[in-house]
Amino acid sequence: MIFFLSVMSFLALRGYRAPKNTVELSPPLKHGKYIVINGGSRPMINAHFNGSAQSYAIDIVGLNSFGMRASSIGGGENLSDYVIYGKPVYSPCVGKVLVVVDEFDDLTPPQKDIENIAGNHILIGFDEKEVLLAHFKKGSIKVKAGDFVDTNTMLGEVGNTGNTSEPHLHMHMEQGGKPDTILNGKPIPFTINGNFLIRGSILDHYRFCALREGSPLLGLGAGEGKCTKPIMVEYIIN
Ligand SMILES: [Zn+2]
Repeated sequence: MIFFLSVMSFLALRGYRAPKNTVELSPPLKHGKYIVINGGSRPMINAHFNGSAQSYAIDIVGLNSFGMRASSIGGGENLSDYVIYGKPVYSPCVGKVLVVVDEFDDLTPPQKDIENIAGNHILIGFDEKEVLLAHFKKGSIKVKAGDFVDTNTMLGEVGNTGNTSEPHLHMHMEQGGKPDTILNGKPIPFTINGNFLIRGSILDHYRFCALREGSPLLGLGAGEGKCTKPIMVEYIIN
């Protein structure tokens, strides 16, 4: 049993390492605290890791101050109970919007739409690659095909459309598939602020802080007062 667990841990740990040739992206969520529930390069820590275009995809949910994903135990049917539901999503790259789909109703958990798996989604072309962001809230998408976006462009809000068991943000990068389609082409691994995200990675914006000592704190959740120790990154991932 111990041997078995050791092998399992070893295999899981291998999925924690960043693959070669990762592409750097910006955080798609800018305020609040989030956890990656699928991510990495092993199937046991990333349900997407199956050799398809979405193999290096991440799924992200929000965390409240109690470390819970929703205000009710187990989540329940009320979408607004989920911390991430309705949170603004920003473009993770400078690029051009290739596809926008915003037609599917938000589903009541745990209903899923397995025919339209990405639900409402946005595909962004970037450096001859494509980034897919999926499961947007119906009617929330602010961009259209042909728009140029940068990392300050608000794309829309996290929703619960497509193949999703609860509100979350799905993101992956792919290359060389049929143009303007999803789940096509070669999976491309990526980092966010230099971090290869795996299951359990925390994206914490609450520590967003002023770069100069003594200047006011910036960022939601940072609280009152002054920065006594400057933090040189704007987004902490651990
Ligand atoms: Zn996903």
